[in-house]
Amino acid sequence: MTVKDALRKATSVLYYAEVETPYLDACVLLAHTLNTTKEKLFSSFEQEISAPAYKRFERVLDRRCSGKPVSYIRRRKEFYGLEFFVDERVLVPRPDTETLIETISIVLRSDPSLTTVHDLMTGSGCIAIALQHLFPELSVSASDISKQAAQVFSLNCRRLLGRLLPFYHADVFKGLTSAYDVIVSNPPYLTDSEVDNLKKIGWPEPEQALRAGPDGLDYLKAIIRSAPQHLNPGGYLFLEAASPQLKILEDFMKKLNYINSTVVKDLAGRERVIYARI
Ligand code: GLN
Repeated sequence: MTVKDALRKATSVLYYAEVETPYLDACVLLAHTLNTTKEKLFSSFEQEISAPAYKRFERVLDRRCSGKPVSYIRRRKEFYGLEFFVDERVLVPRPDTETLIETISIVLRSDPSLTTVHDLMTGSGCIAIALQHLFPELSVSASDISKQAAQVFSLNCRRLLGRLLPFYHADVFKGLTSAYDVIVSNPPYLTDSEVDNLKKIGWPEPEQALRAGPDGLDYLKAIIRSAPQHLNPGGYLFLEAASPQLKILEDFMKKLNYINSTVVKDLAGRERVIYARI
């Protein structure tokens, strides 16, 4: 079996299993199985695959067909140019969240007096670690209620930064005593019915990282309510949310005396990030 034939066959298997991007997944998963890169794979279309390697590829395809995301199979996800370890203990970082990093970066560059950043409900640590990587002088810390996520966070800190960032085991703000210049969060913000539908199709990501009540606003509103007690004067709160939630959040922030609230669109043109100052 050549690389080309294996890809052709796998693409058809994935297509019939209703995988959204069958050819891309086939390439990424074959490269993963053969321990090579997609680029090298593309330059070796005529190369033969050994029988044991092909068996391994078939097992990987079976897992993909039964709904396991490519990122969990590879245990890797690229985010803001860094390769994060991911597994079922954490939400897979989304490209949408890169908008949050970009937005914070612009504000941090424009105001050098902002030196401390806390990433609330950090999960894999993608936000905290990407920011620390971009701004080595910044003091970045993180927290999460999930002890399992904390293990993945530590692993990513060691792999990508070579050191652990300060981490607190906390339910939203409970038990956090410091004040920060910037608080950022990509909290759970899916509605109960959205999560129920995902569960019905066997979605493997942790429910705790997604479910946020009937309108998906439970955590977002809790954070907006409590953040002023954990921000230094003039500090900023940055949040990711779904676009239909942003108007409600903007009004809620105004009601609680936040100023200069700004909504930012993601790469797909959907409103995705809101930030404001106290
Ligand atoms: N953006 C994620 C999704 O749509 C949700 C992440 C979250 O709830 N923070 O699946």
